[in-house]
Amino acid sequence: MGYSADIYRQAMRMIERRRTDAEATAAMRRREVYAKVPQMQSIDDEIAQTAVHAVKAIGMQGDAQKFIASLSEKSLSAQEKRRALLLENGFPEDYLKVSYTCNKCSDTGFCDGMRCSCVEELMRQIAYASLCSDFPVERSTFESFNLDFYSKRADPKSGVVPYARMGEVLAFCKQYAADFDLHSPSLFLYGETGLGKTHLSLAIAGAVTQKGFGVIYGSAQNLLDRMERERFKGEDDGATEAILGCDLLVLDDLGAEFSTQFSVAAVYNILNTRMQSGRPVIISTNLTVKELEKRYTRRITSRIFGTYTTLAFCGSDVRQLLR
Ligand SMILES: [Zn+2]
Repeated sequence: MGYSADIYRQAMRMIERRRTDAEATAAMRRREVYAKVPQMQSIDDEIAQTAVHAVKAIGMQGDAQKFIASLSEKSLSAQEKRRALLLENGFPEDYLKVSYTCNKCSDTGFCDGMRCSCVEELMRQIAYASLCSDFPVERSTFESFNLDFYSKRADPKSGVVPYARMGEVLAFCKQYAADFDLHSPSLFLYGETGLGKTHLSLAIAGAVTQKGFGVIYGSAQNLLDRMERERFKGEDDGATEAILGCDLLVLDDLGAEFSTQFSVAAVYNILNTRMQSGRPVIISTNLTVKELEKRYTRRITSRIFGTYTTLAFCGSDVRQLLR
């Protein structure tokens, strides 16, 4: 999945901590048991010795099989003694077993040379938590999107009923998030301020992150600033790489950013790179099609209007109704 290198590092650090914690707990318990049941130490030594002998047997000729069989018998009886001793002294029988969070990889993060599923799961959690810490994702869900703010009367000019239109938009976004994969289409959300574009794009971002995809969400201004700092100040925190390569990029409020040569070139670079690699983008904007064309080059707008699924938001400013 397209998570940033930083999220991967965070996940691996947590896995390492899980492992050292588990092993430290086991060591502490071993000391506790040895203090109470001194005999246990010699049994453990015996078990360790059989392991050493077993390694020696690898290079042995002839009777290796017989030798190994006797070793495993010894080891089994030692294990049995150990189990009985623990129970006799009031410990659970698995008290000395290292208790890893993930038994598949023993908290190493790797399973048969492949990244373990527990790392993927952690990265998903970290990504969602960081999305929530920056944005009101938990408040902006599909469930909390209230259609009652949209008028049921048709607009006299267009004949569109905002309530019905926004009901369709909501249903589309929900389905989009549920079906999301790396081949999902890019979306273009447009309409005036306060019609719920940010709410629905956050709802999609939250749901898609929960599904385990790497999502970058940000205002165009914020994301472009980060790219600019990397480009000119050498502050490489992997932002550009993540913006270009994440599974889903949500570019909120395109057109509200301070327009510079850099920002126009960067927007082109983002949209073009992601189009070529087939990775979806969700753009939201308050600008009209005409304004967009004026602000960006045709190279940019032709990409948006040629390949994006367009969702027109309508109604009156929801935030004014709340006042
Ligand atoms: Zn694992």
